[in-house]
Amino acid sequence: MKNKNLILKLIKNEQLSTCSAKKIACIIFDEKDNFIFSLGHNHSINKSENCNDKFIKINNQWYYKENNDKDWEKDLTNHKHKEWSESNEVHAEMEAINNLKNICFFNFVKRIYFCYRFRKSMKDNTLSCIVTYSPCKNCIKSLISFGIKNIYYFYEFDDIGNSKKICFDNAIRLYKIRGKQLSFYEKYKTY
Ligand SMILES: [Zn+2]
Ligand SMILES: [Zn+2]
Repeated sequence: MKNKNLILKLIKNEQLSTCSAKKIACIIFDEKDNFIFSLGHNHSINKSENCNDKFIKINNQWYYKENNDKDWEKDLTNHKHKEWSESNEVHAEMEAINNLKNICFFNFVKRIYFCYRFRKSMKDNTLSCIVTYSPCKNCIKSLISFGIKNIYYFYEFDDIGNSKKICFDNAIRLYKIRGKQLSFYEKYKTY
């Protein structure tokens, strides 16, 4: 995993995220030649209601707006974003999986080649993904059932312990990439 292009694409996709908590991107690719199948970033399911229009975090304190006409209010519970996000935001990994499905269903030109490539990656056990943060429990399950064998991430998410266990139980390789420099990557297995 040493393709600079992949990391640049990841960074570019993170910028598309509308989440006020974390900007996360995911790329599904073939580890053998870095062929990119699809990209995803976290966003709200209803694109007319974005996280960053409703929530803002300053010095670990969340502020929220009931609607656009109102002013920012301090979130005394500091949990409103988490609750809203659970019901309204799609994780980058899920979107990357959905985008690949969309290419196969709706893009007649790419469909045949992508299906051939996908089957090849599955057969070679080289279907991989790279994510900004270590995937949550639900995303790990989706990625594994989708056929991903290698997962790379830069930063550790809070529930990394659960994700490590699920990877270990399913013989999926989980790698942390140290630093986000474009010239040097050091990966190491986290279990
Ligand atoms: Zn958010
Ligand atoms: Zn997730």
